[in-house]
Amino acid sequence: MFTPRLGLETLKAYSVEESNWRIRLDANERPADLPPAVKAKILEKLAALPFNRYPELSAQSLKTTIGTDFGLAAANVVIGNGSSEILEAVCYAFGGAGRSIVYPSPSFSMYGIYAKLADSRPVPVELTADYTVDADKLLAAARENAAGIILLCNPNNPTGTVMPPEQVEYIVKSTQSLVVVDEAYHEFYGKSSVNLLNKYTNLAIARTFSKAYGLAAARAGYLLADEAIVRTIGKVLLPYNVNALTLTAAETVFGMRGAFADSLAENRRERERLTAVLSAVPGITVYPSQTNFLLIKSEQAAVLADRLSARGIGIRDFSKVPGLLGCIRITVGTPAENDAVLEAVSL
Ligand code: PMP
Repeated sequence: MFTPRLGLETLKAYSVEESNWRIRLDANERPADLPPAVKAKILEKLAALPFNRYPELSAQSLKTTIGTDFGLAAANVVIGNGSSEILEAVCYAFGGAGRSIVYPSPSFSMYGIYAKLADSRPVPVELTADYTVDADKLLAAARENAAGIILLCNPNNPTGTVMPPEQVEYIVKSTQSLVVVDEAYHEFYGKSSVNLLNKYTNLAIARTFSKAYGLAAARAGYLLADEAIVRTIGKVLLPYNVNALTLTAAETVFGMRGAFADSLAENRRERERLTAVLSAVPGITVYPSQTNFLLIKSEQAAVLADRLSARGIGIRDFSKVPGLLGCIRITVGTPAENDAVLEAVSL
């Protein structure tokens, strides 16, 4: 007789609605494919790639490229199959039985799942009423619950709200737990905690290629941290965890980051436009966002979600999720896609 591992029966798998939306504003992706010059470069490199060979064992080339850009060594970089794989690996490496993983809530819903997979106790700490972090409350929770890790999402998904880097530093210097800052959306904010890596050894920064850099299809992410942290995470990752096609795509995108500047600027402008117009709609609250999505609260949230869905526009409906009651999340799309949203909402 076989049964699932202890605790797995009650664990809910991550799930999202997968429909054939005409306009996909549900997953915080870049609204357009890669800039044509970047895509052409990737395809050219893929054509020359020997498909019969395993990738570099430890993705040394991409680690060096990324590390150098931050004034760090390859030994300070982890490369993952999306930042998801890295965040899960961090939980395996620094969580485990008898420890907890502390994170603000609401935040990225996978944090609780990673904690449970790593046999650690998830300790969500409620955000304030305006969805900001109460640093002292978070630190107290970490102290009281023997936290192996404090996970911060900055800017935070799904609220779009931010912690100023000074607040991140206050948390890092006030705890002996490992502080992991998930900066999946930092390009839309402009601020980062990367420069704190020179000062603190209990800090790690996770980044992704899936959002601003439009590479969600390839699954690539990285983490920057002290060498000892990187070595420990390396113990729980599978050999060849990132395939050669993805490494090629990620290296190309990283090297051509400048080609994304215009679309990032447009995304910011569109975010501000959506915020201004939606805030003026009676009964709608728009939370201030430093990301490529907006969290909106309304007593009519479920009706809005239905109306958008009827027009083939996919968004994330959190309206019945505890902590996010009455909220929906809309990714900033192309100007035409955003026009379609505004038209549907202001009916
Ligand atoms: N962190 C946050 C906050 C996210 O929103 C996401 C994607 N939704 C991820 C991590 C995972 O991204 P990926 O695995 O594509 O790098």
